[in-house]
Amino acid sequence: MSRKMLKDSPNAALDKSLLNRYFDLPQPDNKFQAEYIWIDGTGEGLRSKTRTLNGIPNKPSDLPIWTYDGSSTYQAHGENSEIFLCPVAIYKDPFRRNNNILVLCETYNFDHTPTATNKRLACKDAMDSPAVKKEEPWFGIEQEYTFLDIDGRPLGWPKNGFPGPQGPYYCGVGANRVIAREIVEAHYRACLYANVPICGTNAEVMPSQWEYQVGPSVGISAGDDLWISRFILHRIAEEYGVIVTLDPKPVEGNWNGAGAHTNFSTKAMRSDNGIIEIDRAIERLSKKHNKHIQAYDPREGKDNERRLTGKCETSSIHDFSSGVANRNASIRVPRSVAEEKKGYLEDRRPSSNCDPYSVTNALVRTCILNE
Ligand code: ADP
Ligand code: MN
Ligand code: MN
Ligand code: MN
Repeated sequence: MSRKMLKDSPNAALDKSLLNRYFDLPQPDNKFQAEYIWIDGTGEGLRSKTRTLNGIPNKPSDLPIWTYDGSSTYQAHGENSEIFLCPVAIYKDPFRRNNNILVLCETYNFDHTPTATNKRLACKDAMDSPAVKKEEPWFGIEQEYTFLDIDGRPLGWPKNGFPGPQGPYYCGVGANRVIAREIVEAHYRACLYANVPICGTNAEVMPSQWEYQVGPSVGISAGDDLWISRFILHRIAEEYGVIVTLDPKPVEGNWNGAGAHTNFSTKAMRSDNGIIEIDRAIERLSKKHNKHIQAYDPREGKDNERRLTGKCETSSIHDFSSGVANRNASIRVPRSVAEEKKGYLEDRRPSSNCDPYSVTNALVRTCILNE
């Protein structure tokens, strides 16, 4: 990618080193910045705004409830536009450092009902039920995503054509194989700093496509951790003048789509002979395929229709399938799990732009609560 292309983004053109002069200014002892972060009316977009705090909170409920203009986030009409922001999780702020924080929030309408895109509340209900709590559900989510140049084309792709066919790029190294690794590295370190349990990363099959994994996270924190990791990714890419898209099929044709494979286990699955529980969960999932497809992207299956074609390492959206080490199945049981007869299953259906609260909610309700 040439310098000229980067300059087309006003963000990339700004001199980032100047900001250090101001970040080096001492911060008053009793003043902290909190970045309140929430999901907007698209169910996919993230929004945030900042306020000053006079003390360090110990828990989310120590933080003030705040409001914002929902008519500007596809969530309300002008005449009754205020939406409530209720803090639910706190992370260290890798951008401002010190004792400044990122605050993940749930959103509520003026009548105190959850907004249409607040999927966390229903998820939390399931996670808090005694049967689910007892099983300590673990989730490890593989977040795939694609870098776009400011013109909407995948970053680093020829402007009037296509890169060479897929093959050399997955886990690749070298200037002819890998694009924008510095954003990936920055994101990894920023997540570690923030206390997001990021556990790995790799370059993907399509050039300019990447993956990172978060987890295992327990219960509701799986959704919290993934949403914050996405915020951090968009925020860092913004500084580079690069767009991150979670579109599950950013380029039509013989180019891999992007998913959010969700690895899931219960206490029983992780115990000796847990494979019996894994098989039972797969049996239950096989009877609820359509319910899960609806929960696995923000448009109730419409987005995943473009991705789950049965090609490019996916299963068909219309059929449920499972298998050991099978990357063309809805559910894969990793080879090592089949051998040890315990561990976890991988649900390969969730779309890269899924709401992890909806995905983890559906999994525990089907597999544990047998709903
Ligand atoms: P893949 O081989 O599908 O690319 P990855 O290595 O990318 O797999 O991701 C594996 C994921 O599985 C990680 O997010 C990890 O945290 C998660 N994981 C590992 N063990 C468990 C478990 N017992 N329960 C739930 N998730 C798990
Ligand atoms: Mn993976
Ligand atoms: Mn992958
Ligand atoms: Mn996977």
